[in-house]
Amino acid sequence: MSEQSALVLFSGGQDSTTCLAWALDRFDHVETIGFDYGQRHRVELELRQNVREALRARFPAWAAKLGEDHLVDLTVLGQISDTALTKDVAIAMQADGLPNTFVPGRNLVFMTFAAAIAYRRGAKHLVTGVCETDYSGYPDCRDDTMKAMQLALNLGMQSRFVIHTPLMWIDKAQTWDLAERLGGADLVSLIREETISCYNGDTTHRHEWGMGCGTCPACQLRAQGWAAYRAGQPA
Ligand code: ZN
Repeated sequence: MSEQSALVLFSGGQDSTTCLAWALDRFDHVETIGFDYGQRHRVELELRQNVREALRARFPAWAAKLGEDHLVDLTVLGQISDTALTKDVAIAMQADGLPNTFVPGRNLVFMTFAAAIAYRRGAKHLVTGVCETDYSGYPDCRDDTMKAMQLALNLGMQSRFVIHTPLMWIDKAQTWDLAERLGGADLVSLIREETISCYNGDTTHRHEWGMGCGTCPACQLRAQGWAAYRAGQPA
């Protein structure tokens, strides 16, 4: 198991692209993993390749470190869950206080498959963009969930994985700040232009903060974060 190898859970959105840059800044070898779980914003599966290519082309120091991409077929997750992310229903709040975009167990399954691939690839570090600060209340994004996952994976696979969550305690504006610290204005514009966070996978509308429908919760969060980031910038 290599101390200098990382596997990043990479969906091609703002958060996971920032996490990928964070890992490329820190480790010698970085691979990415993505999941096809029947998400309705499937366009992200194509965009993530564009993001990887753009990072390679614009950041030569990172290009040498960026290794293989792994795409895992988890369409079974879409088959067994009834949610607004995997079915064609409107996004709404549920009686339990969670939005119906919550896919039960999603991050637990993702981390388990990521660890299985990291085990095979000899990577010690798992990096994920989950966040407790301005998330949608998803319980599988919590710090405690990730700490429990790290323990369960290490016991169950007899390993010493470290799960890194660089965004856990920062908000969306601070995520833009982090991108700027890691890769300057060039990384900020790459994330703005090439990544998508939209639950509807809308790539036809372009805004100052990037592509998206502009009305879904993910777009609203991204737009607010961008506005707060820009407000803190010198004019
Ligand atoms: Zn949207």
